[in-house]
Amino acid sequence: MDRYARHSVLPWFGPGGQQELGESSVLIVGCGGTGCACSAFLVRAGVGTVRISDPDVVSSTDLHRQLLYTEDDVEKGRPKSVAARKRLGAANSTVVLEAVEERFDTSSVAGLIEGIDLLVDCSDSFETRMLINDVCLKYSIPWIHGACVGTAGIVIPFPGGESACYRCIVDHIPAPGSVPTNEETGILGPVAGMTGSLEAAEAIKMLLRPDAVTQRIVHFDTWLHLYESIEIRRKPGCPVCVGRRFEYLSGRETR
Ligand SMILES: [Zn+2]
Repeated sequence: MDRYARHSVLPWFGPGGQQELGESSVLIVGCGGTGCACSAFLVRAGVGTVRISDPDVVSSTDLHRQLLYTEDDVEKGRPKSVAARKRLGAANSTVVLEAVEERFDTSSVAGLIEGIDLLVDCSDSFETRMLINDVCLKYSIPWIHGACVGTAGIVIPFPGGESACYRCIVDHIPAPGSVPTNEETGILGPVAGMTGSLEAAEAIKMLLRPDAVTQRIVHFDTWLHLYESIEIRRKPGCPVCVGRRFEYLSGRETR
């Protein structure tokens, strides 16, 4: 029995869709709540190579939402990259799994993006997202942003070309304390999973049918029962996608 039979039958997968996924390489930046869900679905979907970067070790406060980790990982102080590779490998041994215990920054970026077709942002910092935006625009790598806090989440696909970029929406890194964080505000476990799952769905679509990707912000709040999608457009004068100035990559801009 073909393990991908329930995917292959989807009309937009087409006859070669599964093979195309199997020849694709994806980098997932961060393997917390969103990264666990996203990587699990992409590995189970049969993406050829899944590379994960995360510098942290598993903590007890991660367990309510980070589905790849266990109490044993907390007790042993395992790096998330090591624990994730073990669990993901058990789910699909045909996928090449590369788990890197590194933060996505200007010193690691060259190695991390080598050979990838798509990047998924499952990080938790504006600095990382600004750098991802610069890198993906400069090297023409499509990417997907996802973030969540409290009971709300957003996902935005950035297919490249003439579309808007992250900097069109977020002009600068917010001052510390001005934006709620998971540490202060909390995060409902399922909301992290929903955000990562939506990112995985967008990633599969972007790999197989980039022409079908519409660049809209998907925003939801499970407490308010709000589910909306908002159209976005390129900002005239954007320094990155219009001006081609990669200030976070060059280190000229850090905040
Ligand atoms: Zn832009």
